[in-house]
Amino acid sequence: MTLDVMIVGGGMVGLSLACALGNSPLQVGLVESSSQTKTPPVAGFDVRVSALTLASEAMLKNIGAWEHIAHERLGVFREMQVWDAGSSGSVHFDGAQLGQPHLGYIAENCMLQVALERRIAALSNVHWYRPAAVEEITVKQAHAELRLDSTRLRARLVVAADGARSRVREGLGIPVHGKDYQQHAVVAVVQSERPHAETAWQKFLATGPLAVLPLPGNFSAIVWSTTPELAVELKELDEVQFCQHLDEALESRFGGFSLVGARGVFPLRRQHAQHYTEPRVALIGDAAHTVHPLAGQGANLGFLDAIALAEVLRDALVRKRDPGSLAVLRRYERWRKGHNHLVQRSMDGFHWLFVGGGKGRQLVRGLGLSMTDRVPLVKQEIMRFAAGMQGDLPLLTRPDAKLWATR
Ligand SMILES: Cc1cc2nc3c(=O)[nH]c(=O)nc-3n(C[C@H](O)[C@H](O)[C@H](O)COP(=O)(O)OP(=O)(O)OC[C@H]3O[C@@H](n4cnc5c(N)ncnc54)[C@H](O)[C@@H]3O)c2cc1C
Repeated sequence: MTLDVMIVGGGMVGLSLACALGNSPLQVGLVESSSQTKTPPVAGFDVRVSALTLASEAMLKNIGAWEHIAHERLGVFREMQVWDAGSSGSVHFDGAQLGQPHLGYIAENCMLQVALERRIAALSNVHWYRPAAVEEITVKQAHAELRLDSTRLRARLVVAADGARSRVREGLGIPVHGKDYQQHAVVAVVQSERPHAETAWQKFLATGPLAVLPLPGNFSAIVWSTTPELAVELKELDEVQFCQHLDEALESRFGGFSLVGARGVFPLRRQHAQHYTEPRVALIGDAAHTVHPLAGQGANLGFLDAIALAEVLRDALVRKRDPGSLAVLRRYERWRKGHNHLVQRSMDGFHWLFVGGGKGRQLVRGLGLSMTDRVPLVKQEIMRFAAGMQGDLPLLTRPDAKLWATR
């Protein structure tokens, strides 16, 4: 049997594409190597979280996943507070200045995946292949063939959503260029003495940005990007010492912390595939690009890829065109690659400005932050960027939009 679309990778991005193609005339396969998605812990929160933009919130609603989200596990942020350790500069953003009740949400990745999978369970045109790892891809004229452990699968279009070390991308020899930020992110969940005030906090230390992202109650997710050496130290400190270091780094603004669960460490790298499409193949999400997490954009960009590709496939279907043809897929690449590149470059710019540097750079960032705080137009543009409201946005980021006649 030849399916229309085979998605390789059931992470947040691949699952979103499957939902966006749900109830379409396309027959969709979803190949995932892990046997089961991690379920969120009963007590506390999982350490892997993502900041969701307003655009991602709208998308999750439109593809039918939002109603499956465990809302009691979702942290909301209405404001953002950014400041710099090496200068007196700071800037405060408030959703109200954009006419929005909030600027975004903080969600555990595994909780989002469970919600997306619940939605998929109701879609009769999406078929799981799990656990099944793709080992090889061969592109033929009318289809692409995937070799799994013991079977072969065929589809008119294969979508690689298999993460930063994409087997599909590597199998096709699509080059990536990138940069090692020479930083690792230490992630943790903590409980603070004082409330986080539904605010996303970010302090730029000389060694990298430290983010405190609000979860329900007094819980927060910590993303502490720093040198690889300091990351190892922070990971190995005992719980009390880690919390003391965190408290000192944040000038005791939260009145002290206690650690909830284990810490994790992730090396940070910018990576971009030289191209996103080939005949019968498209790359989305981390398989196509990775960015520094300092503005919490990685998964959000992946969601935009997924729904832009779904829209391109819908238009191809209306015009009775082959969904795997390069002519169709190029539109997706033109739509998304430039935008992702721009966001990567902006992150590099922030990283350069805020991490390290001498007195001159310190002065520039202090002035930059303070001026941003005082110029409402600039502030609004930054907030629109952070909320995912800029650029040529796919239809599914608009309220109550749908791609197919039935949802
Ligand atoms: C510290 C840190 C903080 C971050 N914070 C944010 C944030 O606040 N906001 C945000 O938007 N982004 C954030 N990101 C980025 C975000 O986590 C990623 O962009 C996102 O998880 C990528 O999702 P994905 O589905 O593309 O890839 P992945 O999550 O990597 O999923 C890939 C899937 O493919 C499967 N797979 C792999 N190989 C195969 C194979 N051969 N066959 C079958 N299946 C396969 C894997 O099992 C996996 O399920 C952060 C990243 C880091 C490191």
